[in-house]
Amino acid sequence: IFLLSSCNSEVSNTEGNSETEDPIEAKIDSIVSKMSLGEKIGQTAQRGKSSRVKELPKDLKDAVRKGQIGSFLNIMNKEDAKELQRIAVEESPSKIPLIFARDVIHGFKTIFPVPLGQAASFNPNLVQEGSRIAAVEASTYGIRWTFAPMLDISRDPRWGRIAESAGEDPYLTSEMAKAYIKGFQGDDLSSPTSMAACVKHFIGYGAAEGGRDYNTANINDNLLHNVYLKPFKSAVDAGSATFMTSFNDLNGIPASANSYVLKDILREQWGFDGFVVSDWNSIKEMVNHGFAKDQKEAAEKAINAMLDMEMTSTAYQDHLKELIQEGKFSEKELDVIVKNILRIKFRLGLFDNPYFDPNDTVLYAKKHLESAQKAAEESTVLLKNNNQVLPINSKQKIAIIGPLADAPHEQLGTWTFDGEKEHTITPLNAFEDDNQYTIAYTNGLSYSRDRSTKNFQKAVSIAKSSNVILFFAGEEAILSGEAHSRAKINLPGAQEALIDELHKTGKPIVLILMAGRPITLENVKDKVDAILMAWHPGTMGGPALKNIITGVVSPSGKLPVTWPKEVGQIPIHYNHKNTGRPVIPEEFVQMDSIPIGAWQSSLGNTSHYLDAGFLPEYPFGYGLSYSLFTYSNISISNNTPKIGDTITVKVTVKNEGNRITKETVQLYFSDMVGSITRPVKELLRFQKITLGPGESKEVSFTFATDDLAFYGPDKTWITEPGDFKLWVAKDASDESNVLEFTIE
Ligand code: BGC
Repeated sequence: IFLLSSCNSEVSNTEGNSETEDPIEAKIDSIVSKMSLGEKIGQTAQRGKSSRVKELPKDLKDAVRKGQIGSFLNIMNKEDAKELQRIAVEESPSKIPLIFARDVIHGFKTIFPVPLGQAASFNPNLVQEGSRIAAVEASTYGIRWTFAPMLDISRDPRWGRIAESAGEDPYLTSEMAKAYIKGFQGDDLSSPTSMAACVKHFIGYGAAEGGRDYNTANINDNLLHNVYLKPFKSAVDAGSATFMTSFNDLNGIPASANSYVLKDILREQWGFDGFVVSDWNSIKEMVNHGFAKDQKEAAEKAINAMLDMEMTSTAYQDHLKELIQEGKFSEKELDVIVKNILRIKFRLGLFDNPYFDPNDTVLYAKKHLESAQKAAEESTVLLKNNNQVLPINSKQKIAIIGPLADAPHEQLGTWTFDGEKEHTITPLNAFEDDNQYTIAYTNGLSYSRDRSTKNFQKAVSIAKSSNVILFFAGEEAILSGEAHSRAKINLPGAQEALIDELHKTGKPIVLILMAGRPITLENVKDKVDAILMAWHPGTMGGPALKNIITGVVSPSGKLPVTWPKEVGQIPIHYNHKNTGRPVIPEEFVQMDSIPIGAWQSSLGNTSHYLDAGFLPEYPFGYGLSYSLFTYSNISISNNTPKIGDTITVKVTVKNEGNRITKETVQLYFSDMVGSITRPVKELLRFQKITLGPGESKEVSFTFATDDLAFYGPDKTWITEPGDFKLWVAKDASDESNVLEFTIE
């Protein structure tokens, strides 16, 4: 058994920095040695200003002047930001610059698809480009710290925040994490156009029981390390400057005071040397959790877990001094925390260059809009395309219907405080702007939850006089995101009823979904001919979708989450464990076929739902295009590797169609027998390639035996010798190309 020592190395960058020769560390030490206790506590405080208050309140300015605030969030008036910074660096005792933060999640002004959509692009380069653009735009407001990316593994589409995630898979989420961090932070964090990333939420927030936001998460150690922590470890390796804790109770200890994850794992095992911020009031919320009797005790527990900065609530501000006087925490330990915060301020270059360039000509720059459009195109997933109803041609008369066809605010999605609907191009706008197309439009329903059928008739009548119906359906932006979980995840309002009416016209229907989560399609899937999942596609969603619908661009998105048929199948994800029962390979719903009085159904006692079968609606990694790809010449470099070896898998991919198309080739593996049970398969690598008509390319994947390691029963990372399977696949359900190897 091989021990993967790198994952386990004892590194402590958070203490004893005074002996280092690093010039920045020396400067930090010197500053901290002269700071008063009050100023040190001040660095741990992050404050906001209510947007309802116009003027900068005097008490906020005074607090900065006294060195009582380390950071602000959501200061959106450039003059205010400049003035606060001026006070900090000119008038406060130690002249330490402030750091301004904001939730710049999927774009600042130019909005990109929601992160779940961007994950569907399977294109980290595009994600990196988008987050770089977000940094360039947001930094013109002095925002040098974004609360993104969210790396919570999300296996429950009821949870509204799944929209902010990269979905269910640790490897895909890790690749997205690296791309976001590289984009936000740029090549040089000290450049005035770079933002510090803040990976969140540490940890377990996505495992909220029942998908209800803020709910308790119970995650055993095996799952914690092998699934939930993995993307965060990648984030540390990629140099994420900061972390944010999560609201949830994790196995009985709220994440904001969980020393096991904050100290043992993040600091000691991973060597993280940036700083950790709480979530909004999450320290104070520990009183509600029943984990602290009052805010003082909450502060004591959080600070002893080395949570560095407190967002918005004031438990540290009000009680740290007292706690130190009482010996419940030491000033020496507080110095470590202050140094963590100053280290990032230094890396951001704020000590040398505390101000920002307010030149906002970059906002909505042409190349930003082009990139956002490309991201929306590559995020769109073609789920169904019967009789090749897509792409449509310009000779067809098109009925554009549905509440999301012309909903500029809604298509931006959750967490887009700064994106403006006036700059957004809807699908209706995009078709109207192109006189090649004859269109007729009515929304049919004024918003997704609208239950009124009063406009159905008009919708049916324009459908009847057209050749094809484009039905833009889904959810408004507000139906996903924080505190917006749903128990039913089908199309809300009367959208399903409108599809019924349109179906009766006999015209082909293309269902274009805009939503922050998979939508269960049980009641509509057989009534529509094609389905496109566009997520919430952002500012340029309209032109992107028009390009896909009309065939200028072939769809290439793949699902970053398993798409359930029914809510009752949740949790459902491809990388589950085997049961002790045989797998049911095909769809098998037998609710109606079991004879009355029977003892057993025809499948025997197998693990499935009588009324929803075993399979999802669509598997992870799934997505069609307008071309067909064949895979051939599949080879493996070594069938009997030893621990430490690298292995290369090759495949020739051919575009058999007649248009240029992108394809994401996926490599999955399975560790057949383990000292703890292993998932039935796990994504190991992927590559997105572009192929012209008839073109072939060889795709090559290289991995080391270390990449197959798991966190084992003795709490170390191990790759165990034995048999493995690999699949070179189009999605997680594709088992047509299998390879085997044995580690000796
Ligand atoms: C959210 C965080 C967010 C913070 C600041 C909280 O409610 O959970 O994700 O970054 O607010 O807006």
